[in-house]
Amino acid sequence: MDKIQNQEEILVDKNSRGKDRNWRGRKILSLKLADIFKELQYKDSLIERVATCGDTLRFIRREDGSLKLYQAYFCKNKLCPMCNWRRSMKYSYQTSRIVDEAIKQEPKARFLILTLTVKNVEGEALNSTISQLTKSFDRLFRRAKVKKNLLGYLRSVEVTHNENDNTYHPHIHVLMMVKSSYFKGGNYISQIEWSGIWSQSLKVSYTPMVDIRTVKETGKGLRGAVLETAKYPTKPIKLDVENMQVVDDLYNGLYRKRQLGYGGLFKTIKKQLQLDDVENGDLIHTSDDKENISKGTEIVAIWNVTKQNYYLKK
Ligand SMILES: [Zn+2]
Repeated sequence: MDKIQNQEEILVDKNSRGKDRNWRGRKILSLKLADIFKELQYKDSLIERVATCGDTLRFIRREDGSLKLYQAYFCKNKLCPMCNWRRSMKYSYQTSRIVDEAIKQEPKARFLILTLTVKNVEGEALNSTISQLTKSFDRLFRRAKVKKNLLGYLRSVEVTHNENDNTYHPHIHVLMMVKSSYFKGGNYISQIEWSGIWSQSLKVSYTPMVDIRTVKETGKGLRGAVLETAKYPTKPIKLDVENMQVVDDLYNGLYRKRQLGYGGLFKTIKKQLQLDDVENGDLIHTSDDKENISKGTEIVAIWNVTKQNYYLKK
């Protein structure tokens, strides 16, 4: 008997610039992560959640042919590549809304990028070091001289892994919005001064590495330059079995930790705009467009384990 080729259709989802959204690639990475969790003998329920992340995707096909996701299950694991892709889209959208509004309210304000570090640590010390880092950050930002010209901030905790000596480098990136008076007279805080007050806030005896720079207006304007520097904190982890220890350390290190924090005007605007939580909130709607999707047709894509791809349900 002739085998009749089943005309199954593979999911194709492209963004507005025609770039493939690569659902398949992200799903494969999430499955790899689930495998590593399994090897690490994590709880079955946790493995199951990551393994089924984005299994079924329900879209509405708009009249122009583009797809809009309207229903899916996302595991929300801190290390999940699928979820972190959704989070980074949502974060970019929200940050641009907040920055736009902040510039509108304070057009003369300036932006700074501050990077605060601590000495590298071993995997076991990661969790407590991140707590120390965020507590010290709060102490630093309560200082009179820091507060004096500060309008708002956005801070994000990032962890990188040093393969050479197998240590971790937790650090904080801060996008600061300051009054222009920050650059005048005794208000200015030099790199050396930042280093000193960060060391005091950390309560350590060494001088930690600190980087401070002004965001310069580029061809894309101030807004573009600000958004370029305020990236969502997910360094892609190499998800191979060799790095099983890294997955274990990062999972435990980031466990129940908030990576993002907002202050001052940024916090107020975030509330005013009723922006949802990036880390633990809804990962289906990455922007808050109130698009009417009732006219489009429904497209359901289901992950096929054997074929390792998304197929459309007929
Ligand atoms: Zn996920």
